[in-house]
Amino acid sequence: MPTLTLDLLNSLPAEEAAARLDGLYEHSPWIAEAALRERPFRGLAQFQHALARAVTQAPREAQLALIRAHPELAGKAMVARTLTAESTNEQGKAGLTACTPEEFDRIQQLNADYNSRFGFPFILAVRGPRGSGLGKQAIIETFARRLRNLPDFEFDEALRNIHRIAEIRLQDKFGIEPALGQAAWDGMETLARYTDAGYEALGQLTVTYLTEAHQACARHLAELMRETGFDEVHIDAVGNVVGRYLSEDAEAKTLLTGSHYDTVRNGGKYDGRLGIYVPLVWVRELRKQGRRLPFHIELVAFSEEEGQRYKATFLGSSALTGDFRADWLEQHDAEGITLRQAMQSAGLDLSAIAGLRRQPDDYLGFVEVHIEQGPVLNELNLPLGIVTSINGSIRYVGRIEGMASHAGTTPMDRRRDAAAAAAELLLYVEQRAALDGDSVGTVGMLQVPNGSINVVPGLCHFSIDLRAPNDAQRDALSNDVLARLQEICARRGVAYTLEETMRASAAPSAPAWQVRWENAVDALGVPLHRMPSGAGHDAMKLHDILPQAMLFVRGENAGISHNPLESSTADDMQLAIEAFGGLVDTLARDMRKTA
Ligand SMILES: [Zn+2]
Repeated sequence: MPTLTLDLLNSLPAEEAAARLDGLYEHSPWIAEAALRERPFRGLAQFQHALARAVTQAPREAQLALIRAHPELAGKAMVARTLTAESTNEQGKAGLTACTPEEFDRIQQLNADYNSRFGFPFILAVRGPRGSGLGKQAIIETFARRLRNLPDFEFDEALRNIHRIAEIRLQDKFGIEPALGQAAWDGMETLARYTDAGYEALGQLTVTYLTEAHQACARHLAELMRETGFDEVHIDAVGNVVGRYLSEDAEAKTLLTGSHYDTVRNGGKYDGRLGIYVPLVWVRELRKQGRRLPFHIELVAFSEEEGQRYKATFLGSSALTGDFRADWLEQHDAEGITLRQAMQSAGLDLSAIAGLRRQPDDYLGFVEVHIEQGPVLNELNLPLGIVTSINGSIRYVGRIEGMASHAGTTPMDRRRDAAAAAAELLLYVEQRAALDGDSVGTVGMLQVPNGSINVVPGLCHFSIDLRAPNDAQRDALSNDVLARLQEICARRGVAYTLEETMRASAAPSAPAWQVRWENAVDALGVPLHRMPSGAGHDAMKLHDILPQAMLFVRGENAGISHNPLESSTADDMQLAIEAFGGLVDTLARDMRKTA
């Protein structure tokens, strides 16, 4: 039975409020007591942050004692039935009380290994990111993976899991569930069933431009938008899925939102897709409540952002800004299929691409929700972050041509080794980017085509990805890298070609729209954290024609992304949906006031 409300939390005498929060943190009532000193709270998210801060500010011995107050997973306490009621419920829901003898032995071994490595018990929020329970298999895999973490990181990861456990226990006490967040979470789980040929057997998620799985995603999203209650839905000439939820006023302007549904190879389920499902779930709510707004909402699920199959990236959002370049159509994928052929065989009408360009006058602005793809929010125990700017970037693909020759007979000083030249460039990129402090540089592709163990590499293919928070810094970095490439090749007697495949300006958020996100996040009681985006996003393309601002959502597992471990909780998704709803509602109110 729920025993608490926000009003009670704020108004009960401190001792009584603390008593109602009993069991929130395992055998550690001091945490709730400390947080309660910061009453009143405007929302549960604010209270949770106060709880987390109480732990962060406690001495390390107190943190260690908190971790050690937890029982082992499926350990002696479970067998002897001496767990707290909360732990019994959680371990039961995860199926740990029904382990086979083999599973039980495996977990005991992991418990022993973990304890001897870290000196505290393994703690995992076994209710999982959705809150409905991880399976035994997922628990065992996570256990084995975290055993390899470094001790300091694992200490913090244990604390983060403790906060996650408290979050779910708190909801139980309040008798609430993140139903909207779970709807988004479930939606992305369903969408992740579509994966490119060859990756399904590996259990990996890969959706690259216009593959069968990609087209299935588009159809799925279009159908979903129709079911959700969007008034107009179509798949456009570059494969974007576009849904419009119409205003009460036919002449009204449009709020544009969305993100991409393609993925990197063996990627995560939330990169891009979260920014589709957050608005989608909110429009479902609007529809249910029969509410219309003084503006149209246009949700675009962008078809391509990741640049996996073809060299060009942002194919989806480029079409909206009028930057889809005709020469891209002649690019070919690894199988030699040109972009033109891929688009034609998907039934896309190339002659309609130019018409996809949006007229800025018809639009209010563009907002995008995206998983952070980094560790910042996770480390700060914050569910949401306000993006101040998207870093500018430049990408190149290149080749170095030397001379293939016998590895045994070519003396070291006569070689024209293409791979060694590329390696020297790679190390320079690493050093030069680090000099700036906030620039990054990566050589992510490096190949010796048809190389042999006994042949000096005659050819090397490589890529360069450079990013910085403003264009001047990005260009200085790029100039230095290109100068060094020239110098290396001249000195080594090898030739190079280099093709610039992307140049994106840094995209600072439009101040008025950034403030709208800030107000929406603040209204939820979530402390504001402003941060630049190191990753590129569709918003940086839309930036060319519309004011834009982004909202980041915390990623679990230290914020890892472009990796199957990418994760986000239904609770954080719930907050993102509420923030999106808050932004939309405030915008509607303001427009009605001035109308
Ligand atoms: Zn993305």
